[in-house]
Amino acid sequence: MTMSRTPAQRADSLTPAPFAPDDLARPEIRGLPLYTPDQSTTRCPVDVSDNTNLWGMPPAALRALRDTPASDVARYPSLYSATLKDALRAYVGVESAGIVTGCGSDDVLDAAMRAFGAPGDAIAFSAPTFSMIPTFARVNGLESVAIPLRDSADDYDIDAEQLVAADAKLIYLCTPNNPTATAVSRSAVEYVVTHARGIVIIDEAYAEFATVTHDDLVARHERVLVARTLSKAFGLAGLRVGYGVGSPALVGLLERARGPYKVNTLAERAALAALSPGDDALGWVRAHAALARTNRVRLSDELRDLGLFALPSDANFLLVPMAGARQVGRRLQELGVLVRSLTDLPRDLAVLRQSNGEALRIGVGPWEIMRQLLDALREALR
Ligand code: PMP
Repeated sequence: MTMSRTPAQRADSLTPAPFAPDDLARPEIRGLPLYTPDQSTTRCPVDVSDNTNLWGMPPAALRALRDTPASDVARYPSLYSATLKDALRAYVGVESAGIVTGCGSDDVLDAAMRAFGAPGDAIAFSAPTFSMIPTFARVNGLESVAIPLRDSADDYDIDAEQLVAADAKLIYLCTPNNPTATAVSRSAVEYVVTHARGIVIIDEAYAEFATVTHDDLVARHERVLVARTLSKAFGLAGLRVGYGVGSPALVGLLERARGPYKVNTLAERAALAALSPGDDALGWVRAHAALARTNRVRLSDELRDLGLFALPSDANFLLVPMAGARQVGRRLQELGVLVRSLTDLPRDLAVLRQSNGEALRIGVGPWEIMRQLLDALREALR
């Protein structure tokens, strides 16, 4: 027999149960800080804080953005960026490679962890390295194993043996490394790739500024994923285009974890234009990467004249260990110049021990901007 309920009883049963999102969130997410580089809400006139292309973007990419009919954005972009993948494969020059694109290389790195790391698996990396790696690891339930860089003043190379000995499901290498700007040696990369048992991610976000790249390894080692981006040398950071290069089998798995439609219509058009031949496209990218390489040496020399030391850079930025970097960064900001102040770097390297784990990271760009930075730095250090 069913009892009929009075209207009052029915209203009572509609009262929602107490809801506390924190109690329902996964523990890894609860308390996870948002990414907060020290950017002010108003843009500094001189911003050299994020290692982007301070010359701007290739004119051909800008034209592509202007020429895209607004009505095109009423439809979805391509599912997995097939045309862009072909252009990227041609650019990388590894014919047999599989390519996966992403919403920035952040997306590629995150999807790689999701595809290959089950909760509880480990990811090993050198410290310090790209700050998002421990965050993506945590979000994906992975355990982070940080191995200090070798403290050899000449090379600041990775400790390849320790990285392999950690026996992690994934190993992450970053070369040139953010934030140190230093390169990992070819021999150390090869040691890791030949001895690792799991996936080896080689993050080459700064490849275009580097002396040596490692994308050729994907043709010989199925476990290698090279992650790249159009946010740095290609000047398209705001459009968010990254890509991964690996064996077709590996990349296919990553693409499943990534999901469809990650590169938007405008981003795909601009990326295709930037990758096309010509002085206003790929030629522009190469010419400005060369300028960045010239200016990083010049800036490093000028910093030395100010009594400052920059680690040897293979990228478009310099790391300058400095006790009191936070205060100097603030003073620079007051003077209209934004650099990245890092305050909690591991102290395994002698230069970072001496600076109490503090450093300024400075992006390299047109000399006029470098001159403004140097003027402000002179003032801030006074
Ligand atoms: N890897 C490294 C080493 C980086 O420094 C960055 C950006 N700072 C990224 C990946 C992510 O770049 P994006 O998502 O813009 O491609």
